[in-house]
Amino acid sequence: MDYEQFFANSLGELEAEGRYRIFADLARRSGAFPMATRFWQDQTEEVTVWCSNDYLGMGQHPAVLSAMSQALEKCGAGAGGTRNIAGTNHHHVLLERELADLHGKGAALLFTSGYVANMTTLSTLGAGLPNCVIFSDALNHASMIEGIRHSRAEKCIFRHNDPAHLDSLLSGYDDSRAKLVVFESVYSMDGDVAPIAELCDVAEAHGALTYLDEVHAVGMYGQSGAGVAERDGVMDRIDIIQGTLAKAFGVMGGYVAASAKLVDFVRSNGAGFIFTTSLPPALAAGALASIRLVRQDNGLRERHQERAATLKRRLTEADIPVMPSVCHIVPVLVGDARLSKQASDELLARHSIYVQPINYPTVARGTERLRITPTPLHDDAAMDKLVAALYDVWSRLELRKAA
Ligand SMILES: *Cc1c(COP(=O)(O)O)cnc(C)c1O
Repeated sequence: MDYEQFFANSLGELEAEGRYRIFADLARRSGAFPMATRFWQDQTEEVTVWCSNDYLGMGQHPAVLSAMSQALEKCGAGAGGTRNIAGTNHHHVLLERELADLHGKGAALLFTSGYVANMTTLSTLGAGLPNCVIFSDALNHASMIEGIRHSRAEKCIFRHNDPAHLDSLLSGYDDSRAKLVVFESVYSMDGDVAPIAELCDVAEAHGALTYLDEVHAVGMYGQSGAGVAERDGVMDRIDIIQGTLAKAFGVMGGYVAASAKLVDFVRSNGAGFIFTTSLPPALAAGALASIRLVRQDNGLRERHQERAATLKRRLTEADIPVMPSVCHIVPVLVGDARLSKQASDELLARHSIYVQPINYPTVARGTERLRITPTPLHDDAAMDKLVAALYDVWSRLELRKAA
């Protein structure tokens, strides 16, 4: 077989469909968020980033940087081992305590990333619980789908955010079987939010455990930033809350928070937890500092929501087709893979604004979009420029305007 030819053909197909991925080569500028230096064809230019998941700009907060550099000086670069073999640093222990406390759970467990937290926890629970059936929302993130698949447990997919459909699916299974209902709070491509209380009602009626991915909500919703479950007053009804340290908290790593026994089960059996080097102590120290700041600063969340609401309003006034998001994410519909890529290219080339196009398979074909994430650090002047730039690109490419 001509392997190189095979790879070339496969990549050529992606390119022909307009969904070959090209990464923007950036150096984020700490202290000048949301600005970054872009490296392009032996040149550099300053760009404004409008699609980062560092939703609150915590990745450059002085207290986070100082906690990280102190831990780096004190403990060195790497963790030095897996958690079991010399790699449990005191910073990990403090961070797990903070996360358990944030979510009001008995314990928390750290992973290398949110992806690994989902993959490992779901595969471990699905494989370990006796005769387990997993009920999964149709729009769940790839990391949850991988974990469920890897568990080899029986899987049922319920219609997105549909408690009645979940109820009818659960009714088809015997009471004696272990059941796990898996969903997200904020769905980050459409910006819609799950009816958590209703889904808990259904799960409880059938004796199922609930697993909630709050990756796009921790730090940003609830009085102390514990997520949408906190905002909705249902945190104690969720059995397992999963989150990331890499988005609103601005650093890196993932976690689950649950009862002490459940967490101990995953700690004791999860391959993706056991057989890998733990996070560098400096990352754990930075994440801890970030969480402590974000927990007590509700004003940060208010400013974030105000920025998102203002951008949605201003784009609507300019007839730019904002999709109906109920959260901090501002998706703008293009509806075509090539055009969404072209719109993104024009924003960069003509306006020095970086918004990554989102194409299939991340979103359905025909719903290709630009996904804009305003933060408390995007000021009115930056927003003026973004709205004018989008208006210009929409006119030049003759893209569909809002109805
Ligand atoms: C980003 C994301 C993850 C993975 O988190 P990382 O810490 O980036 O690995 C998990 N779930 C959802 C819904 C996500 O969007």
